[in-house]
Amino acid sequence: MSSTIQALPTEVVYLITAGEVIDSFASVVRELVENSLDAGATRIVVYLWPQQWRIRVADNGCGMNLEDLQQAATAHSTSKIHSSDDLWNINSLGFRGEALHSLTTLADLEILSRPNDGDLGWRVVYGDDGKAQEVEATAIAPGTVVTVSNLFGNCVSRRQGLPSATQQMKAVQTTIHQIALCHPQVTWQLWQNDRVWFTISPAATTGQLLPQILPQVRQGDLQELKLEIPNPQLPTQHSKLSTQHSALNLVVGLPDRCHRHRPDWVRIAINGRMVKSPELEQTILSAFHRTLPRDRYPICLLHLFISPDQINWNRNPAKTEIYLNELNYWQGQITQAIDQALRIDSANFKEAVHTTRVSKLLKAAEEKGGYNFNPKPEDNTQHLALSTQHSLKAVAQVSNTYIVAEHASGMWLVEQHIAHERVLYEQICDNWQMLPVEPSIILYQLSPAQVSQLQRIGIEIETFGEQLWAVRNIPALLQQREDCAEAILELSWGGDLQAAQVAVACRSAIRNGTPLNLQEMQTLLEQWQRTRNPRTCPHGRPIYLSLEESALSRFFRRHWVIGKSHGI
Ligand code: ADP
Ligand code: MG
Repeated sequence: MSSTIQALPTEVVYLITAGEVIDSFASVVRELVENSLDAGATRIVVYLWPQQWRIRVADNGCGMNLEDLQQAATAHSTSKIHSSDDLWNINSLGFRGEALHSLTTLADLEILSRPNDGDLGWRVVYGDDGKAQEVEATAIAPGTVVTVSNLFGNCVSRRQGLPSATQQMKAVQTTIHQIALCHPQVTWQLWQNDRVWFTISPAATTGQLLPQILPQVRQGDLQELKLEIPNPQLPTQHSKLSTQHSALNLVVGLPDRCHRHRPDWVRIAINGRMVKSPELEQTILSAFHRTLPRDRYPICLLHLFISPDQINWNRNPAKTEIYLNELNYWQGQITQAIDQALRIDSANFKEAVHTTRVSKLLKAAEEKGGYNFNPKPEDNTQHLALSTQHSLKAVAQVSNTYIVAEHASGMWLVEQHIAHERVLYEQICDNWQMLPVEPSIILYQLSPAQVSQLQRIGIEIETFGEQLWAVRNIPALLQQREDCAEAILELSWGGDLQAAQVAVACRSAIRNGTPLNLQEMQTLLEQWQRTRNPRTCPHGRPIYLSLEESALSRFFRRHWVIGKSHGI
């Protein structure tokens, strides 16, 4: 069998940003675990002994034959790229051929490995120069076990500069969590001082894995989306390497179900690795604009699988920051994908709703003995099946506030005011129109700040006399309203154009307490369903409550055998 690990030519070495990447427990774990993933492992066990400065990573990956094993820790040895052309085609997590070699200079390194097509395993202990020092046959299962001991033993100052063991273990956990989210199909087991510390079970998708890592969220709080997207037009030089399509995986926390007080769960991964990309993070935050309460941030995990020739990993040696070619193109794709994930359409119409709030509501309803529910008399004739499977049908109004809507898999309560507010807000954003008013609206005693605020949002206003101002035009929606002067005053108190748009939408939306007939309710439901962000109002409040038929049938114990519940 010929060796696949080769030393890189010097010019390639220069192309790679040189740098020290191993500076902590977490970085050792990251490098070893990434090697395991590159080797195709599906089961990875990490053992940590922080007091002994020892780390072991065992995997069931492809393993190495003896020749490769002897070569693995020499300087710039990698099986993953061979020439500078390959730098444009990096599909693996590692490629510098640096990690194992660095480890031999910073620690004691021992590797046991058995290729999955071999019947014998080998144990190699490496010297400072990365050369194999001891070699012996050993009995192990196919895969690789790397042990790093006495980490930073020869540079005590480095050990002293590190945070406490507890903090370092925390950093290891964060690292594993991040990597696991990018590789949900892997089984993880972490040991600390000979005890199991935590485990992560494999899952089909990142969204299904997330609740193990972020227990506050449930499956039903998330929307997952996988899209194939075409590659942007590439400069011809490397286009032979680019594949036809890229892929985008998205996990979003639905804004009516969950959000965070920090942007700590806005995460971006590219081709299997979490990366920092301030530009893309900003794109995500903007896409959630006006769907969340004030000062709250979305949960959003974005994983792009894109042709390696679109990426330059050499922004920094830890490979956590990248340059992306055609940034604008990807930003547009991401915005569209998030919009799609937030919409309510036939694909995600029927969704899990077993949120805590729903269970509480059902419980409260159970104790109080039911809703005050007034079906509309004109609707008695046709209360059965819905014409189309995914349409929402208004059937009643409760407390002149909630629209009761029925659909194939249950019923919804929609708060009329904020649903309408969402509709108007999006209309206004798409078409912010100022119309002249005749006669002008006269306002009294405005401060200079109020006057310039009104001018800033596009209102024409001029002095009309002592402490009097005349407003010549107003936002179109306010035109029919009697409280127009009040509305303008409200706008004069400050905020940017968007805040003004929210205020106008809120003021113009149907008030709660207003009786609506079925036709009006149906029209509102239809308009609301077509909005881009139907889940929350522009202040971030949830707009609807869904009571799924499955939940209702559980509540009414419909699974009970009739005979039994009748005591027969
Ligand atoms: P890189 O990952 O950048 O190639 P490393 O120094 O991390 O460089 O690893 C050197 C080589 O050793 C890898 O290219 C790979 O061929 C081999 N190797 C390292 N760890 C493993 C592993 N767990 N299983 C199989 N091969 C491995
Ligand atoms: Mg590596």
